[in-house]
Amino acid sequence: MKTNFWLSNSEAVEEGKLRGATDYSEFFYFFCPKCEGDKILRLLDYRLTENSEKNRYDGEKIGQQNIKSKCAKGFTLQFQCYCENCGHADTFKISNLGWQGGNHSDSL
Ligand SMILES: [Zn+2]
Repeated sequence: MKTNFWLSNSEAVEEGKLRGATDYSEFFYFFCPKCEGDKILRLLDYRLTENSEKNRYDGEKIGQQNIKSKCAKGFTLQFQCYCENCGHADTFKISNLGWQGGNHSDSL
C-alpha cells in the first residue's frame, strides 16, 4: 500500500477504467479497476483540492446548447480508494469545474 497516495493516481483509473454504480438506494460505489467481478473499493479519505464561487460554464453556450443549469459553487474533490481484495490503492477526482455534458467518449 502506498504511503502517500494523495500524490497522483495510477493509469488504472484513467480512460474510463474506473467504473461504479449505485446500490439499491442512492449510494454510489466504485469498482476496483484491477479485479474481476465489480469488487467494491473502500473510500479511505477525501479532500477538497479546488473550489470557486462560480463555474465558468454557467450561462454559457457550448456548441448549439445553451447551459440552463447553474452551479451553487465550483469544486474538485479527491478521494483515496483501496481494494481489500487485491490491495490496489489509488486516487481519483470528482469535479464540476470542467465541462460536464456531451458523450463520455468525447472526454477520453
Ligand atoms: Zn482489486
